[in-house]
Amino acid sequence: MQIVVQKYGGTSVANLECMERVREKVLAALGKGQKIIVVLSAMSGETNRLLDMARAWNESPDAAEMDVLLNTGEQTSVALFTMLLHKHGIKARSFLGHQIPIRTDRDFGKARILDINRECFLKYLESYDVFVVAGFQGADCEYRLTTLGRGGSDTTAVAIASAIEADMCEIYTDVEGVFTTDPNICPDAQKISKISYDEMLEMASMGAKVLQIRSVEFAKKYHVPIMVKSTFSENSGTLVTQEDEEMESAMVSGVAYDKDQALVTLVDVYDEPGVAARIFGPLSGANIVVDMIVQNPSREGRTDMTFTVPRGNLEETVQILNGLQEEIGAKEIIQDRQVAKVSVIGVGMRNHAGVASIAFSALKNENINILIISTSEIKISCLIESKYSELAVRTLHEAFGLNHASQTTDAK
Ligand code: ADP
Ligand code: ASP
Ligand code: MG
Repeated sequence: MQIVVQKYGGTSVANLECMERVREKVLAALGKGQKIIVVLSAMSGETNRLLDMARAWNESPDAAEMDVLLNTGEQTSVALFTMLLHKHGIKARSFLGHQIPIRTDRDFGKARILDINRECFLKYLESYDVFVVAGFQGADCEYRLTTLGRGGSDTTAVAIASAIEADMCEIYTDVEGVFTTDPNICPDAQKISKISYDEMLEMASMGAKVLQIRSVEFAKKYHVPIMVKSTFSENSGTLVTQEDEEMESAMVSGVAYDKDQALVTLVDVYDEPGVAARIFGPLSGANIVVDMIVQNPSREGRTDMTFTVPRGNLEETVQILNGLQEEIGAKEIIQDRQVAKVSVIGVGMRNHAGVASIAFSALKNENINILIISTSEIKISCLIESKYSELAVRTLHEAFGLNHASQTTDAK
């Protein structure tokens, strides 16, 4: 018996009409004799609505209570959708994360999955044709509710697919697959028919929110094939899988952007052994992901240290740095929220020279100033003023010829 995991995002279950579309997809899969595990997100906008309500009293509400609140978003969609399946005579049951359970650590708001009880699925597979699982949620060892970070339903789906060795994990969303860049800001973006885990990981890490980063990490580690498709069309999607030779031939396969960045500069810190560790140790201890780091050349035993953090972590970062200011000798802590990161990604970069210079010239031609550059084997990222991010994406996309269909892409 084939088991398929299908995840539907917020826009796919935005209202009862959209849920009917999802029901049709599920029915079609059942018609092929498959058992289906449907993972649902909260209805579009609901998680934000809950966050806004919670923040009305306090900018930083208690993280554990926040997760209790956010769990209700996915709870609503699974209950409603299961009722819809019942109306059509389908044997279905909803499951919340803690009922399975999906066990996580206690990092409220961005918990990591530790374990999924596959026995739960095995026990009920006889009785139900469709399991409707609430995405994004889990519980810690004391059954306190947790959530997996924004976009976490993708990770729920891939983790379940891995736990039960499903034949495929399908991620249904509001675009037809993974594109060479966000099709909502670049109409020329091309759908990629097949992309490697590593490239997808870089795209997701660099801001392409079509898949949550952790879902791709999971898929890569446990070899789960992911198919990204649209809920609203029948067209083929994008397969995220192991790298093959064909993929290596493309120099650049995508452009991503991330506006959720903030820049911090520590002015005139001591330039001596251990200073970087004293700065970044406490930030990492607070689970703050520091991304681009630049240390300027030393002047009379002092240096400037500049780095980026997710915008949502800026207050906490500055609070931690204020506590260290004397110890590291920082004369000033400068913050800038108006920055964005644009990145070009491609496994082919390993074998092609000149990618950086094409990117830099393209940005120069549009008079876009680069604040920080960082590179990896398969990616080049530039930090720029956020007001230029859409222009920079379109410029880089064109500079690398991504607006023309190639071997690994098919037209939108
Ligand atoms: P869902 O609610 O289904 O999880 P998301 O909003 O999380 O959907 O992700 C889908 C969105 O990701 C698209 O609407 C698109 O704007 C954005 N996106 C960013 N980069 C890409 C890309 N390279 N390919 C496809 N979509 C992208
Ligand atoms: N509802 C959560 C969010 O909006 C999780 C998800 O949609 O994947 O981030
Ligand atoms: Mg998403």
